[in-house]
Amino acid sequence: MAAIRIVLCRPSHPGNIGAAARAMKTMGLSDLRLVAPERFPAPQAEWMATHAADVLASARVHGTLQEAIADCVAAFALSARPREWSPQVLPVREAAVRAAALAAPVAFVFGSESAGLTNEELFACQSLVHIPAEPGASSLNLAQAVQVVAYELRMARDASVPAMRAEMLATVQDIEGLYGHLEEAARSSGFLVPGSRLRERWRRLFSRVPALEREEVNILRGLLKALLKK
Ligand code: SAH
Repeated sequence: MAAIRIVLCRPSHPGNIGAAARAMKTMGLSDLRLVAPERFPAPQAEWMATHAADVLASARVHGTLQEAIADCVAAFALSARPREWSPQVLPVREAAVRAAALAAPVAFVFGSESAGLTNEELFACQSLVHIPAEPGASSLNLAQAVQVVAYELRMARDASVPAMRAEMLATVQDIEGLYGHLEEAARSSGFLVPGSRLRERWRRLFSRVPALEREEVNILRGLLKALLKK
């Protein structure tokens, strides 16, 4: 998340800058850049930032967008409006997944409240990102658009959390042991009638569990063992 940069181009309301800082902080983002803000620093920005005062205090101000994203390996432009002529269009979720996969500075670039991004700013970025919304009312408040992007970035990051440690997971051999035990219990109790598809059924059932833990398999086998003893 430290490599993700939020860039606000010519924001006119300082309250939106503060609210954007807060939106970032709640999702673990901290690199805020302002391109030619109309009023900054401003008390309204601080009021809206509340506990994200540190994000606001470390925000850097730039003269142009090019300067704000010069060291980034990718820049995503956020636009409420589809443009006739634009870089490749990406849904916000896909943009977040792509950004989370890059371990280098990446920028998400937002336009001003009144006019959005200029064409020049749009083409300084490699992709145009759209937040799906109701046609005819698709323009979100600037800070709320930042919140949606920050949330998607966090979801994308959480989805790529390293998988469970291999030694915790049941192996094929462990699971076959469970099937053997189930069959033994089904047979000796008279539950398994000839011609039933019971064996296939429980294989299908367990195949829908994405990652059975060894401990879980052992609990089931322990229970079957105790029942068989009785
Ligand atoms: N009136 C402007 C929109 C301003 S909203 C216009 O017509 O373009 C301020 C900024 O929030 C936009 O420039 C964009 O960066 C972002 N934003 C708002 N709604 C969005 C949406 N549905 N999808 C993507 N970005 C959006």
